[in-house]
Amino acid sequence: MPELPEVEVCRLGISPHIINQTVAEVVVRNGKLRWPIPDDVKLLVGKQVLGIDRRSKYLMLRFESGTLLIHLGMSGTIRIIDENTPVAKHDHFDLAFVNNKVLRLNDPRRFGAVLWLEQHQDEQGFLAKLGPEPLSDDFYHGYLFSKAKKRTVPIKTFLMNNQVVVGVGNIYANEALFKAGILPTTKAGSISKKRFDQLTDIIKQVLADAIAQGGTTLKDFTQPDGRPGYFVQQLMVYGRAGQKCLVCTTELKEIRQGGRSSVFCSQCQKA
Ligand SMILES: [Zn+2]
Repeated sequence: MPELPEVEVCRLGISPHIINQTVAEVVVRNGKLRWPIPDDVKLLVGKQVLGIDRRSKYLMLRFESGTLLIHLGMSGTIRIIDENTPVAKHDHFDLAFVNNKVLRLNDPRRFGAVLWLEQHQDEQGFLAKLGPEPLSDDFYHGYLFSKAKKRTVPIKTFLMNNQVVVGVGNIYANEALFKAGILPTTKAGSISKKRFDQLTDIIKQVLADAIAQGGTTLKDFTQPDGRPGYFVQQLMVYGRAGQKCLVCTTELKEIRQGGRSSVFCSQCQKA
């Protein structure tokens, strides 16, 4: 599943090719994504992309008349290709530009989304429930501590709640808790401000490292094949259950929390 770093790397990868470009054609081959692709997207013909932002895992293509939101769901990828590139299976949506480049969305599982927010619609309303961006100053020392007060939910579940902070998916929650030395089952409300502030710094660091690592794949966004924006990272615990801890050689344990796998070292991580 594309996580925040993959989406950010996607934004960086596609931006230079389509910012300031004008839409020549909009092609919807299969509009049945997580939500139906609205007919409004056809009105983008002749309109110019002014910029691309990201909020949580939504890519936001800015036009004068509104914002095109794209979400990659479970399995989505975006490439920037030449207009004569043959259409492949699961290529559901194209935004073709006058420079003969095409933004093409491929999504085998169709949990992704393409949505249109007109200028007068309340963007904040649509995204209102989302917590702060982890790499922004809105995610500051003291924030997690104050948000966690009296909460008995496990810290892992707490971190993965988009209303607390966005973009800390399963991989990064596992990795950050390992690096912070906190057991994933620890009650959120029992963690000190000092440990929360360390955890805040670590979350920023693991996400920034992943984005930096993904920077090496930027050229893949213009390749007609492959899986652009997916990259293998150096992981300490995620996907390593039953193997030895890379720090202390204790066997890593795995439990399920909220239906997701939590892997941890009972030696390096404490409640
Ligand atoms: Zn260990």
